[in-house]
Amino acid sequence: MNGVEIVTEWNNLIPKPRGTFIRVACPKCGNEQLLYSHAVNIVKCNVCGEILAQPSGGKAGIKGEKTGVFE
Ligand SMILES: [Zn+2]
Repeated sequence: MNGVEIVTEWNNLIPKPRGTFIRVACPKCGNEQLLYSHAVNIVKCNVCGEILAQPSGGKAGIKGEKTGVFE
């Protein structure tokens, strides 16, 4: 039996397999910008260069505070 899935905040947030755009507030300077939830590159803050998202096995690991989700 495959398909046992660990329920995470992410799975609750994004039940669909496709990507989503997420608005994230930079933890350092507070700048808000849109990220793709399945970003394959490191995403840095446009203002201060703080890393906001890092790819981690398919889904991007979001570092900042999520302030909105756009599908
Ligand atoms: Zn910043």
